[in-house]
Amino acid sequence: MSTTVIKKNQFKERVWDWADRLEARVTSITMRPMKTKWASYSTTGRLTFDAFLPELGEALQDYVIVHELLHSHVPNHGKLWKSLMRAHLGDYERLEENLKKIAHRSLSVPGKIE
Ligand SMILES: [Zn+2]
Repeated sequence: MSTTVIKKNQFKERVWDWADRLEARVTSITMRPMKTKWASYSTTGRLTFDAFLPELGEALQDYVIVHELLHSHVPNHGKLWKSLMRAHLGDYERLEENLKKIAHRSLSVPGKIE
């Protein structure tokens, strides 16, 4: 197996671990190059992650994973979502800032997170 495939599988394992811990609804995990976003979550539990994410540090991976999985419980970025982010990741705002500094490779601008 190539390093890329191993990293991709490890990333998916990480997502399933977090999904268990957060009791989030996940029906599928897809990884592909995304144009404008790092990740997306549909209300039916379909997760899509940008294929470059496994190359980032684990703290940033966790930020994106937990961000999306919490949308299983909270559809917005309001008070409840923020307190859950803090409970699971600590200083998540610092991670968010760090992620924004990483230019999304296909755009040369920071990728969005929804
Ligand atoms: Zn979001």
